Amino acid sequence: MTGLEEYGGVFVDGAWRRARGAVLDVVDPATEEAWARVGTASDDDVDLAVAAAGDALDRGPWASAPLSERIEVVRRLAALVQASAPELARVRSRSMGAPYKASLGLSNSAGVIGMYIDTVQQVAFETVRRDEYGDSLVVRGPVGTVAGIVPWNVPVRNELKKIVPAILAGCSVVLKPSPESPVAGALLMDLCQQAGVPSGVVGLVSGGADVGEALVRHPGVRKIAFTGSTATGARIASIAGPRLARLQLELGGKSAAVVLPDADLDLVARSLYAFGLGNSGQICAALTRVVVPRARQAEVVEALVAAAGRHVLGDPMDEATTMGPLVSRRARDKALGLVSTALDEGARAACGGGAPAHLTRGWFVEPTVLYDVEPGSTIAQEEVFGPVLAVVPYDDEEQAVRIANDSRYGLHGAVFSADDDRALAVARRIDTGTCAINSFDVPLSAPFGGTKQSGVGRENGVEGYDSYLEYRSYKLTPGLAERLSRA
Ligand code: NAD
Repeated sequence: MTGLEEYGGVFVDGAWRRARGAVLDVVDPATEEAWARVGTASDDDVDLAVAAAGDALDRGPWASAPLSERIEVVRRLAALVQASAPELARVRSRSMGAPYKASLGLSNSAGVIGMYIDTVQQVAFETVRRDEYGDSLVVRGPVGTVAGIVPWNVPVRNELKKIVPAILAGCSVVLKPSPESPVAGALLMDLCQQAGVPSGVVGLVSGGADVGEALVRHPGVRKIAFTGSTATGARIASIAGPRLARLQLELGGKSAAVVLPDADLDLVARSLYAFGLGNSGQICAALTRVVVPRARQAEVVEALVAAAGRHVLGDPMDEATTMGPLVSRRARDKALGLVSTALDEGARAACGGGAPAHLTRGWFVEPTVLYDVEPGSTIAQEEVFGPVLAVVPYDDEEQAVRIANDSRYGLHGAVFSADDDRALAVARRIDTGTCAINSFDVPLSAPFGGTKQSGVGRENGVEGYDSYLEYRSYKLTPGLAERLSRA
């Protein structure tokens, strides 16, 4: 007996199977100790999971079931996820260190499911088109078997963002959770089963890059829905490209919060407390470059230091904790290394910059505010994925826009100003997938995803759902077109 919790790592055709790959220890980043074990998939396990997902579409009624039935199943899943929130939050916090109190909200997973249920009801699945060349029937149907490959930073929500649109579209999905956080996906498989998702429609293979690549290469996988780093996204694209698999890539970011001279600094500080430093900075869209008027840099830095000081670091299970550790030793070392490079390159630290002295265990990093950051410096260009804000001063609005756009990433951004119209005008000039005006994120029904190296395609909203559908067009006879138009 290891004393560790044991979870399944391979879920195929509605049942847990003995995983034939290596056993993976899941480590609590607050204690640095293993707390759970999961078996990982072998190549044969991946083959079985993809075959079962394909069979479920070929033999089963799922792909052709009335939308109302699929919605009913997803509603039941939503209720089960809500009822299981304490357990899901516990495994989430233990896996990646988010404060339990924050984990309990499951990062609004209920909102994600609700958004997709609303969205599918707006989609026309069959339309008759008539033009001078004849009549056609345009049908939107499931793309087929989807591989959902996710990171560890927002367990439960990351997984549901792959599972829910896929199954609502009538696809089957094989999920590959992150090796840092494989348990939430395992619990969700059981909940899908209880909700009535037919056997084979959802499957799971645990493991690392090798298991992910086996899925990406698999000819039975028609679409890869990936969330993770830009480097992995590029690798996946190089494998999926030659076999022309459908690709949706949600990748990294280095998002700018542009603070115009008349901005409300309290609002800026509150926004960056939540969406720059929150989740220990481990949010893809985190606003980590703070682009500020040079004349107000000192004031902004003061407000940000005060906000950083309000974070309470400690045991994620403690009620008072607002900031947990980073997910791993590697992540902690990377963040501290980037801070040290920033200081070498001329930035100055207003607070933080190290590991907190009072926490002797766990991969914690103090919330850090750097200022006088040069736009082209490493800290302004590289994603830290830690609680580090880089304040970059500008002299005029043109330069602010240039700095915001001076990035290989284009995921998200924000513009703060007392004048909403002026903020929107500036936001329109920033080349990112999303941008918030006097706020930090965008509503769930808006398509989310990146320009440039932040990704390909979109999640959320009609656009996100659409990427799980394939168009098929049929040439009709005039009689058929007439009858179908009337139906
Ligand atoms: P990662 O790219 O290392 O891993 C993501 C997933 O891909 C994991 O499941 C991993 O096992 C798998 N993987 C790794 N190599 C693979 C390969 N060669 N083939 C197939 N699968 C492979 O990313 P991470 O460290 O887990 O997550 C952090 C990154 O994710 C950050 O860059 C962050 O910005 C990004 N992210 C983006 C979004 C978004 O919506 N744009 C959301 C969350 C996180």
